Amino acid sequence: MKHIAILGSSGSIGTQALEVVEAHPDEFCVEVLTVNSNAELLIAQAKKFKPNAVVIVDESKYQLVKDALQNDMIKVFAGEAALEQIVQMDSINIVLTALVGYAGLKPTIAAIKAKKMIALANKETLVVAGKLITQLAQENGVNIYPVDSEHSAIFQCLAGEWENKIEKIYLTASGGPFLGKDVEFLKSVKKEQALKHPNWTMGAKITIDSATLMNKGLEVIEAKWLFNLKAEQVEVIVHPQSIIHSLVQFEDGSMKAQMGLPDMKLPIQYALGYPQRLKSIFPRFDFTKYPQLTFSQPDTKTFRNLALAYDAMRLCGNMPCVMNAANEIAVDAFLHDKIGFIEITKLIENSMNSITHIKNPSLNDYIETDKESRIKALEMLG
Ligand code: MG
Repeated sequence: MKHIAILGSSGSIGTQALEVVEAHPDEFCVEVLTVNSNAELLIAQAKKFKPNAVVIVDESKYQLVKDALQNDMIKVFAGEAALEQIVQMDSINIVLTALVGYAGLKPTIAAIKAKKMIALANKETLVVAGKLITQLAQENGVNIYPVDSEHSAIFQCLAGEWENKIEKIYLTASGGPFLGKDVEFLKSVKKEQALKHPNWTMGAKITIDSATLMNKGLEVIEAKWLFNLKAEQVEVIVHPQSIIHSLVQFEDGSMKAQMGLPDMKLPIQYALGYPQRLKSIFPRFDFTKYPQLTFSQPDTKTFRNLALAYDAMRLCGNMPCVMNAANEIAVDAFLHDKIGFIEITKLIENSMNSITHIKNPSLNDYIETDKESRIKALEMLG
């Protein structure tokens, strides 16, 4: 029986993880649930899954949650610092990090230091501080199991191949809702259009990231750290059907791919159940419904975020941290109708050009860089 802490249980990954837990009561039980501010959902989840403890980051909702759970023998904590405390609980085996953005960094570090296995859904943690996180994981004997579907695909392809060198990996990208469109079209894009992803149902931030191809950029950097690769070993290929979730090419030229219908519950279940494959009732792939699987090069001239991510990865140091912070500010501004779709890229590019590059950042440098980048990006928004 694995005892799980779910950080970010009200989000898309968090709620699907609870569906996986519910389908496998003999394999998993929930130790901890945390949310940012959705008190109602946290209360409902806590009453159903009976965790040992819950955290609500929004302190103004502490009393509401406390009162609602007072007869359920569930400990209730509030505030951001509580996340770092709670992941250290003795009874936890694995921490699913399903927080959005930079917020995932500190709790993930705390969990690794407490020697908890990590099911990583929060890709921004590895983007911001991949070197530090992977070193820390190694020192503490902690495995990081990817939940991101592309990285789960690579991880599944690597099972039994740990001794064999990777020549290259291909991360597949759906291309998002604006595949094939030009810059003129993108100038008039509204958020309602950007929030409609063709294949995956996800939270708002990642859906916008998918439309701008920044999500793929973040995933390229995530892959570099997860699988210890160089920039030139990670390639993106557009595959609009999202059936092949990614591929590994070995030194003998052989390629392995992982396939299936797009459903995040599969990579979540693989990460939590690893090394076991657990039975599922997810819909099965039907070849007759997909007579063709197609592939093309990404258009990085129109969708420049992907090119910026490669730049950030090559420069390394604190540059991916700058890019991530600027992107979080830009996406938030777009979602609040403050900037247009095309301005997202400009804001990120200007931010990357305005922050001092640090080659070997400490944790404190990352924290400072994140802060400074956000302030600069907000200034540029005016
Ligand atoms: Mg992904």
